[in-house]
Amino acid sequence: MKQVRLVVLGAGGVGKSSLVSQFMRGVFNTFYEPTVEECYRHFLHLPDGNMHCIEILDTGGTHQFPAMQELNIKTAHGFIIVYSIDDAESFKEAHKLRKLVVNVKGTENIPLVMVGNKSDLAVDREVQKDEAVTAAREEWRCPFLETSAKYNRNVYDIFLALLNSVETC
Ligand code: GDP
Ligand code: MG
Repeated sequence: MKQVRLVVLGAGGVGKSSLVSQFMRGVFNTFYEPTVEECYRHFLHLPDGNMHCIEILDTGGTHQFPAMQELNIKTAHGFIIVYSIDDAESFKEAHKLRKLVVNVKGTENIPLVMVGNKSDLAVDREVQKDEAVTAAREEWRCPFLETSAKYNRNVYDIFLALLNSVETC
């Protein structure tokens, strides 16, 4: 069985914990509770027939412990970097986090997925989909998905895309 360590990064409030909760338990909570850091273990049977044990580290938005953050990045196999489509600032933060990951890992060849969450809030959209698609393709060179943790849109697909990239990297 394959062991995969995934880390979820992104600004506070973009929906990291909600995506993890929806993926792990099929539950969405409208109540916002800032996360310090939580680790989950999940067994996943992939369409390719392989069983994976995935460890998901849900991080807090605040980086009070840079050394710990660096260690988490160093030991991870793949990254989910989340912004919220209704928050342009969180898109900038996502870019910063991706740079941090590249610096810590010392390579650009890292399994990661760019995620624009809260796709159900399209009326308040601040980050155009085109812009994100282009950044993911030309800059990050990684898969991109818009998701809604609230309505369980594309949530499973993030993890699938990431596990596929981990396999091929
Ligand atoms: P985190 O700080 O990144 O872990 O963000 P949370 O998962 O705690 O979510 C922050 C807030 O955004 C909470 O009130 C959630 O209910 C809400 N939220 C998360 N995902 C979505 C989504 O897809 N759509 C909407 N409308 N709200 C969301
Ligand atoms: Mg959280």
